[in-house]
Amino acid sequence: MTINDIITLGENGSIGDKKFSKKLLYSLPINPRVKALSFIDLENLMKGLLVIENSKEGYGDFGSTTVMGKLLKLLKSKDIENKDNRINSLINSMLDNRNNPYIPFGVHVPIEVKSISGYAQHEKEKYEKKKRIEAEQQAASELAKKNKIKIATEHKKRKENNLDKRTEIIKKVKRLNTVNRFQALIESDYNINIYPEEYAEISSDELQKIPHDLLEKILLKLKYSKKGSQWRMLKNIINNYLKSEKQIDTLRPNYIICPDCGNILDMSFKTLPCPNPLCRFRFKGLDKYLNKNIDELRNDIAIEYRGKDEHLIKLIATALKYNSGINLANLIKNFDNKDYRKEYETFILLYLKDVNLVKNVLLSDVIKDRENIYVSKNGYKIFPELIEILYSVHDVKIREFLRQEFANYHVKIFRALRNKKRIIEK
Ligand SMILES: [Zn+2]
Repeated sequence: MTINDIITLGENGSIGDKKFSKKLLYSLPINPRVKALSFIDLENLMKGLLVIENSKEGYGDFGSTTVMGKLLKLLKSKDIENKDNRINSLINSMLDNRNNPYIPFGVHVPIEVKSISGYAQHEKEKYEKKKRIEAEQQAASELAKKNKIKIATEHKKRKENNLDKRTEIIKKVKRLNTVNRFQALIESDYNINIYPEEYAEISSDELQKIPHDLLEKILLKLKYSKKGSQWRMLKNIINNYLKSEKQIDTLRPNYIICPDCGNILDMSFKTLPCPNPLCRFRFKGLDKYLNKNIDELRNDIAIEYRGKDEHLIKLIATALKYNSGINLANLIKNFDNKDYRKEYETFILLYLKDVNLVKNVLLSDVIKDRENIYVSKNGYKIFPELIEILYSVHDVKIREFLRQEFANYHVKIFRALRNKKRIIEK
């Protein structure tokens, strides 16, 4: 098929059995012969090309690669009478008869568009749709901007409000004493780390005045305190304090012994008379001795011995028995101070009457950092000089316990002394 064949095809519309070459079709716009064609011949060439593209062989092959748009431009450069009308009617007929949406302009025009006026309408709608989408996008972006500003403003406001509230609470808390301040901190919803660290400072006197259940609650609040902060240090201080308090609890009995009849009485009797009708010993006044340390009690008892107030001496002796576990623990803590030890030993020997207190002391960590510590199967600790003192205690039960618990010890004690090593019973 030649260029002339295509022109003829455009004139009479019949393709016959002629084959076309794609290479020829693609090169039409740059072919010098085509460029030189008259308006009418070029018009017919385009009509012929349309028939080819619409034919069974051409259909679907061209799409956006069609050269029709370029030929249309070339046609517009040719001169002829009534040119615009002719071109418009060619375009109309192509729009009406095409199978390729890229005919006649080389750009996509939906196949539903069948005429120039339809095309104009289509372009108008396209333009309006584009404008509408742009407007919608613009509106959406403005709304987003507004929302963003709104959210940021609200956030700032909330933050300022919170800051105000915080400052207020911090100020309020500052005026309180330590106990009430801790109470307020526990009740506040704020993280402990927002409070000034100087609020965490506490003296040991203040610490002793705070009830243990309140301290436990403070510990919960301090759980998330910042590492290395005063709050974290407070946490450690309270933890250690509570630990030592709990240990002291096990070194004191929860009863008193009547010095006259030997009845064991619960702590509620510390201000009452002994319930034994034959005894009726008066414990009134005992309270002030129960919390005194051994030095004070020793002084008191020495004074009363001189005054020979037998009732007071018995009260003080009751307190000494009550505190004997703590006294034993203190003796062990100060074991290397010979004077201290000598003074204590008498009181330990006289007043230590409760085997359970001895057990608790030997289980506790008051025995530590010494050479020659022996640990029994049950975890009781002892060392040679201590067992020597304890064997002199007047209480039979204590001596029995020592003999049983440390039966193996007596052999090993000499070896231990020699090796200066901690021995652990396997
Ligand atoms: Zn009594």
